[in-house]
Amino acid sequence: MSDENKAKILIVEDETKLARFVELELKHEGYTVFVANDGRTGLELFEASQPDVVLLDLMLPELSGIEVCRRIRKTSDVPVIMLTAKGEVMDKVIGLDSGADDYMTKPFAIEELLARIRAALRRTPSADEGDETILKLQNLTVDTARHTVKLGDNNIELTKREFELLVCLIKNKNIVLTRDQILNKVWGYDYIGETNVVDVYIRYLRTKIDDKYGVKLIHTIRGVGYYAKDED
Ligand code: CA
Repeated sequence: MSDENKAKILIVEDETKLARFVELELKHEGYTVFVANDGRTGLELFEASQPDVVLLDLMLPELSGIEVCRRIRKTSDVPVIMLTAKGEVMDKVIGLDSGADDYMTKPFAIEELLARIRAALRRTPSADEGDETILKLQNLTVDTARHTVKLGDNNIELTKREFELLVCLIKNKNIVLTRDQILNKVWGYDYIGETNVVDVYIRYLRTKIDDKYGVKLIHTIRGVGYYAKDED
């Protein structure tokens, strides 16, 4: 048995039937499972159980999934997979800087959920990669150990995923990466959901860096992908 099957998983979901179903499936896989049916209990259970992955419904009584995620992010880098109902726009889920790592639209296939949990457990934080901790791109300095980004003297605040995407682009600077390559490098597996999650995050980075400071770091190659451009 690999260690990942001993991992602790917290489910925060107010649809009790769904929560129960997922709980049983995860227990069957060997995980230790905690379940909360509202946001506030979810947060309490998070503190008490210190899970390795959190499955977090978006629309919850007491505290919304977004708010729960924000509060978790104040103290923890634990992978958070948001569960959203059909019709709740992805932008809404990930666009509010909630810090979620991933999302799944309900109804989902349990196999896909299991695959994403395994991927989340395998993923190592970029700060642990060792080698160089200071990355540079033009006037931009990224410290992967301290998780800071500076453009000249300006501090840039990025969410965890935005940070990982930026690091990926800089480590591959001047090389065009396809959306699939970016998904594999940043999201860590063969993503089954919409690949436009990459476009969405590129847009966030541009808003926070390129647009805000009038620079041109992230370039698009139409129909191919993206790259970060260093000085000529
Ligand atoms: Ca719900």
